[in-house]
Amino acid sequence: MNNIYNFSAGPAMLPKEIMLKAQNQLLNWNNLGVSILELSHRSTEFIYFFKKCIENLRYLLNIPKEYTILFCHGGARGQFSAIPMNLLNQQDTTDYICSGFWSQAAAKEAKKYCYVNVINIIQKKTCGNISLIPMKEWPIQNNSKYIHYCPNETIEGIAIEEEPIWFQNRKIIGDFSSTLLSKEINIKKYAMIYASAQKNVGVSGLTIVIIKKELLCLNNKFIPSILNYSTLYNSQSMFNTPATFSWYIAGLIFKWLINLGGVKSIEKKNNKKSSYLYHFIDHSKFYHNNIEKKYRSKMNVTFDLKNKELTNVFVKEAIEYKLLALKGHVARGGIRASLYNSMPFSGVKKLVKFMSLFEQKYH
Ligand code: PMP
Repeated sequence: MNNIYNFSAGPAMLPKEIMLKAQNQLLNWNNLGVSILELSHRSTEFIYFFKKCIENLRYLLNIPKEYTILFCHGGARGQFSAIPMNLLNQQDTTDYICSGFWSQAAAKEAKKYCYVNVINIIQKKTCGNISLIPMKEWPIQNNSKYIHYCPNETIEGIAIEEEPIWFQNRKIIGDFSSTLLSKEINIKKYAMIYASAQKNVGVSGLTIVIIKKELLCLNNKFIPSILNYSTLYNSQSMFNTPATFSWYIAGLIFKWLINLGGVKSIEKKNNKKSSYLYHFIDHSKFYHNNIEKKYRSKMNVTFDLKNKELTNVFVKEAIEYKLLALKGHVARGGIRASLYNSMPFSGVKKLVKFMSLFEQKYH
């Protein structure tokens, strides 16, 4: 088991020590004689744990006090509906920046609730490479209520690393599902950010929303209560029974990250992992990544084999070499290696070794 590496995009690998800890505590959490799985979310112990969890997340991401943290249901897709419902009226207009699958999906959902100006920022170069329209040239409308974008497109492996610039005081909303906690974020640049948990935060079932408190006030009575930010805020994210186990794992991950030296320290490790893999790809005549360097994701490294017919053989032989889940998403094809916080450098080294052996065998 020890030298198996799981490159899944999500649900993704977890640190082994976290799983061992959860296993150890499973039957008897906090010496209560019961499992976390059977403990009431209203119990003093769980509420204490949750408060600590929020405190740790606030510390890790340096979240200012004008922002609140909501633990929600329904995944990031749930937020695709919740955002326009909470922040807009039907006659309002918004800008959705599209840089890949997930930002497009967010725009498509928002169209049910408001006027959406879809801004496609992907540029195909004549050489076939993918680039993006730089942020300062995004054609934002004069009257939009917010700008939504996705800083890390998990499927294509496209990232927008720069912080949001000044868009005439426009509210900026970011889908950080595949990048939250992997690098420092200047939260103050955003009105709201959100992320589902199953990549860097823990296991599926939890969606984190970090939002400026002043935005909680629009009280549209047609918003389903479970998606209503004011309702969630007023009930400390416990309007209904929360996904307690997902919250618990997230709490363990936050502590783990703090012990590792926080987000700054994991960011350095993440940079090292992705640079190592991209460097290998860029120096190979056998593999290819077609995204302009400055827009490449550090979390989801996508690439193709020059001979595409070898893709399935690559995935199959990788599994035999104990490297799992390298097959690209069906919407993109090719190969994708997700290098979230839990992936150690040794995993990336092993992947590069395999890629090199595979190249020698089939070139
Ligand atoms: N946004 C991004 C960037 C994602 O990577 C994903 C899931 N892979 C989603 C949204 C959808 O998340 P969920 O499945 O939790 O709704």
